[in-house]
Amino acid sequence: MAQEHHEVIIIGAGVCGIYMLHRILGMGVDVTVLEAAEGPGGTWFRNRYPGARFDSESYTYGYSFNEEILQEWDWSEHFASQSETLSYLEFVVEKLDLRGHMQFGCKVDSARFDDEANTWTLVLSDGRELTTGILVTAIGMLSAATLPRIEGVEDYEGQAFHTYYWPHEPVDMAGKRVAVIGTGATGVQVISELADKVAELTVYQRRPNWCAPLHNGPIDEDTQAEIKASYDEIFERCAATPGGFLHGPDRRAFDEVSEEERLEFWEKIYNSRGFEVWLGNFRDVLVETGPNEVYSEFIANKIRERVHDPETAEKLIPKDHGFGTRRVPLETNYYEAYNRDNVHLVDVNETPIERITPGGIKTSDQEREFDIIVYATGFDAITGAFDRIEFVGVGGQKLADKWRDGPITYMGLQVAGYPNMLTLAGPQGASVSSNFPPAIEAGVNWATELIQFMRENHYSRIEATPEAEAGWTREIMDSYEGALLTQTKSWFTGYNSNVDGHDKLRYMIYLGGAPTYRERLASITEHGYEGFRLA
Ligand code: NAP
Repeated sequence: MAQEHHEVIIIGAGVCGIYMLHRILGMGVDVTVLEAAEGPGGTWFRNRYPGARFDSESYTYGYSFNEEILQEWDWSEHFASQSETLSYLEFVVEKLDLRGHMQFGCKVDSARFDDEANTWTLVLSDGRELTTGILVTAIGMLSAATLPRIEGVEDYEGQAFHTYYWPHEPVDMAGKRVAVIGTGATGVQVISELADKVAELTVYQRRPNWCAPLHNGPIDEDTQAEIKASYDEIFERCAATPGGFLHGPDRRAFDEVSEEERLEFWEKIYNSRGFEVWLGNFRDVLVETGPNEVYSEFIANKIRERVHDPETAEKLIPKDHGFGTRRVPLETNYYEAYNRDNVHLVDVNETPIERITPGGIKTSDQEREFDIIVYATGFDAITGAFDRIEFVGVGGQKLADKWRDGPITYMGLQVAGYPNMLTLAGPQGASVSSNFPPAIEAGVNWATELIQFMRENHYSRIEATPEAEAGWTREIMDSYEGALLTQTKSWFTGYNSNVDGHDKLRYMIYLGGAPTYRERLASITEHGYEGFRLA
């Protein structure tokens, strides 16, 4: 049987794959998307856990490239829920007539580069083989879910779900005894949502995070009209901030203002929507230890005010890292949940989990029985999705081997030795460190131009030079020097206690800010794809 061949294959039909497909089709190129799930939407197709929603403003998360979509789509809340976001992405797919170019239920097991033919051969888990000239990975940065390595996970006889694989059919939670393991952005949303809907909720916390209020609310008609009339300014503002959000740092330094003024400012940002509390701060609060400690204490006092039991409050206050050096979960009534009689906090540092039993969870002091266990235990982030596909490059080198001690890339978009493979939304690019849609739009636009350039000039091969790759990776490593975030263990810095070897710092993300990254990309193009070899 002849192999199915496409000029371009995109793996993944999430936010990134959808836009890439649209752009490639616009060039009249033969392309298909291979998606493991049964529908488009990526992370928003999967994460159906209770409470799942944006924490970037809805109107900054939508695509900016199509005025009609912007005007036709109404966001109902400042921070949309998972189901609304999924509906939005499905709307985009229908509107741009993309579904016919997507193949669902296609799990890619391996992709091997043919050095002679300059093509990639993909093998799917159903045995099907496809070939392509250009391989685009849009496989997500948080798409390789990890269960905790705790003995007995398989033995549990009740219902158990990792949040990423939450079932499509409704789960009846009413009257149930529920355990949640994990207190990252996901766990915090689940806990807040379930607290008043279940009989008993027991939270197993290893390390607390600094959480702050989301301040969500409905978008009324007038605001809707205002948003639609000001999309240009909204996207301009996002384009100007390091994180690609509406929120950018205050130009002042911490000690340029009086204590009174500072406290007033912090009250204001604590009561503002979204990431203002994190990213709208004085410019040195996330960079300098001294100001960071003072701000962390301000937030700690907010937690103390919100949690009635002082002992519980102290357990919920991070002691091992300062505010904002890990991803800040935004919440609605998270801390208030712990004031309820049916919500219990188990600090697993005091009483470690010994095992999951058929009936529940056994810690060093007691066994508790549950009807449902929720694993909000996160992801083998950023590189995990790459590790789960066997990418074999020039000379038979496996990407997982090359990246064993952490990723090495050029601009986060290509890896030397893996020609014609564009790693959109991969490690060391800007998409993992900023508001995802605007960041991927920049990456997709660049990749589209590149493919256009290759077609026009009859190039069949593009590869990053090892020198350019080494330079970029060195630059990423240097940017971590002294950054507060390197002092903490989280997926930002490549740690995951549930994955072998992920127990040391990995240089996963670009810290230079989205505007600088975009300038670098533009300059590379202007200089004839500097750092790449075209043949
Ligand atoms: P996460 O931040 O990595 O949190 C995983 C949690 O599980 C942590 O609290 C971790 O504890 C705990 N954990 C893992 N293994 C454990 C074990 N063996 N025993 C006990 N506890 C264990 O993952 P996440 O919450 O899924 O969030 C990942 C990212 O997804 C977020 O940072 C965010 O970027 C994104 N997200 C976004 C939204 C949104 O836009 N609204 C919502 C949810 C998630 P330790 O901290 O001690 O490791």
